[in-house]
Amino acid sequence: MKYDVIIIGAGPGGIFAAWELAKKSNLKTAVFETGSVLEKRKCPIDGVKVKTCINCKTCSIMNGFGGAGAFSDGKYNITNDFGGSLYEHIGRETALELMHYVDDINMSHGGEGTAMYTTAGSGFKKLCMQNKLTLLDASVRHLGTDINYIVLKNLYEELKDPIDFYFNTPVKEIRKLEEGFEVITDQGSYTCDKCIVSVGRSGSKWLSGVCKDLDIPTKANRVDLGVRVELPAQIFSHITDELYESKIVYRTQKFEDNVRTFCMNPYGLVVNENTNGIITVNGHSFEDPEKRTENTNFALLVAKHFSEPFRDSNEYGESIARLSNMLGGGVIVQRFGDLERGRRSTEKRILEGTVRPTLKATPGDLSLVLPKRILDGIIEMIYALDKIAPGTANDDTLLYGVEVKFYNMEVDLDENLETCHKGLYMIGDGSGVTHSLSHASASGVYVADRIIGLNE
Ligand SMILES: Cc1cc2nc3c(=O)[nH]c(=O)nc-3n(C[C@H](O)[C@H](O)[C@H](O)COP(=O)(O)OP(=O)(O)OC[C@H]3O[C@@H](n4cnc5c(N)ncnc54)[C@H](O)[C@@H]3O)c2cc1C
Repeated sequence: MKYDVIIIGAGPGGIFAAWELAKKSNLKTAVFETGSVLEKRKCPIDGVKVKTCINCKTCSIMNGFGGAGAFSDGKYNITNDFGGSLYEHIGRETALELMHYVDDINMSHGGEGTAMYTTAGSGFKKLCMQNKLTLLDASVRHLGTDINYIVLKNLYEELKDPIDFYFNTPVKEIRKLEEGFEVITDQGSYTCDKCIVSVGRSGSKWLSGVCKDLDIPTKANRVDLGVRVELPAQIFSHITDELYESKIVYRTQKFEDNVRTFCMNPYGLVVNENTNGIITVNGHSFEDPEKRTENTNFALLVAKHFSEPFRDSNEYGESIARLSNMLGGGVIVQRFGDLERGRRSTEKRILEGTVRPTLKATPGDLSLVLPKRILDGIIEMIYALDKIAPGTANDDTLLYGVEVKFYNMEVDLDENLETCHKGLYMIGDGSGVTHSLSHASASGVYVADRIIGLNE
């Protein structure tokens, strides 16, 4: 079968590339996806029969239509300050324009009426500065897990006719032909003139193999390590009610490391995340007030970058996560008071605490897992946050570990997001250029427009 364009991966990057091609060209396009259609994506953890991750062959949380973003909180951060370095390739203005364009499409496909928050003019900037914290600038569209699902469903309805979708069809290999590319799967092989690779974090290992086979230069990227904090929503409500998601950075006194908040979920849930069989922690929340919990959660992360002689930052992150999986059988939870007193948390101490955990995790000791320097930074930041949100450093505040943000190696791409092989594009989180829904989606639109010849 021959296509004009083949897209590998149906996450936000792949979906928005497909969207542009379907709406603005007649190019014959196919999307290959390891996972299933949206409705068939079902994580077996039900809290009763299956309580923790059973390492399914294909993870329904990470793979399938909607990609890793399908059951996410649906926070579209419209900013160049974080979420990726797309602007370095395509320019700040274009990047922001495309993020707004994606927002418009989301709004016209079920997202209308959802809240847009902004840091512009917020008094918290000053309050943060007065307490050695920096609030990063952004506008945040919060779709919530429920509306995000509806938007994805509506997008698929419009895409399924003009685009050929091949679900449960992981691509095994990409071969460069004299003209175009051959995309090989277990169900057969397909050729195309242009190939857009958008395989996200879950496709990171596979993609590094592709880059090696095709001699595409890559650079090591960083890994972010830390914990997810869960506390009563009231403690952060004065911040989350106004900003929803605030990205706050703290520079530690001891080591001058940057610790930052990440993925804030007011009234949300802490959840497991499975990356390449390793269980880490994440969080999300719902737009529907009826689905809200009493807690807010957010991550505190420290970035680590390795260069010489060891350069595999992800392997380092994986090893730390594996250690927590070895000790806790999955994610470990610890009261902040227990961590400070140098003792493990137990089922009894967690039960006696005032914060009711939203994730079933194993009570334990995070100091046995996280390197001292990272843990010291996190503890310092908790005390810094306590000054703008008193109660953050309460004994009963829960810390889940480990949270790891794996960044794919950065693929060497030009201003078209094209590799050294003409016609082979790499976008989204898989390329290492983006780390968020809005940047990944924008990168998809950008490349599709490039292929159609709209933004030359
Ligand atoms: C629990 C959770 C919550 C999150 N919350 C937010 C949030 O609120 N805001 C935010 O900005 N970001 C959030 N993120 C991150 C966000 O989901 C990603 O940045 C975004 O999905 C990246 O899009 P992508 O298209 O690059 O990759 P992905 O969404 O990872 O999609 C890649 C797709 O490619 C498929 N694939 C991989 N390898 C192959 C192959 N060989 N053949 C065929 N298909 C393949 C995968 O199955 C997957 O469906 C969250 C992530 C998680 C896990």
